[in-house]
Amino acid sequence: MDKIRFATVWLAGCSGCHMSFLDLDEWLIVLAQQADVVYSPVGSDIKDYPENVDVCLVEGGVANEDNLELLLNVRKRTKTLISFGDCAVTANVPGMRNMLGGAEPVLKRGYLELAEHSPQLPHAPGIVPELLAQVLPVHQIVPVDIYMPGCPPPADRIRATLEPLLRGGNARHGRPRHD
Ligand code: SF4
Repeated sequence: MDKIRFATVWLAGCSGCHMSFLDLDEWLIVLAQQADVVYSPVGSDIKDYPENVDVCLVEGGVANEDNLELLLNVRKRTKTLISFGDCAVTANVPGMRNMLGGAEPVLKRGYLELAEHSPQLPHAPGIVPELLAQVLPVHQIVPVDIYMPGCPPPADRIRATLEPLLRGGNARHGRPRHD
């Protein structure tokens, strides 16, 4: 059987969902036998999200321009996109800043009002990504195929979600690409 092309992505989250993924322990060996990891912040240093990905776990909300650009690429190049954890599903913790009403008050609070030395707003185009006005869950930007709630989702839930995809469910024969 062909290996599936598998990816994980880290947007605005604490990486706790990825830590839970690592809690799969020895089942990670099974996963490695059935999937090629083509992009992930865990154990790989691939810079660009590749074409023709079968399954991708997306952790985190969409908080800045880099998150947005990456997510749009992920959707175009992925058959089965899994909204991975509460920050991806609801915006959860990063979404708490939405109560302040936009990016500007957040930056002012963090970099001016609370600064003890050299208060200044970060401005480094191309290096520091601009914050979006609101942190959004993944499905408000692109279509999502599978929702996996939890903060973080426990390892057995991750396994139960991935196992049918490894057997060839949606990942290879089901849903169309969202171009
Ligand atoms: S859902 Fe929870 S564990 Fe996952 S990135 Fe968000 S805060 Fe962290």
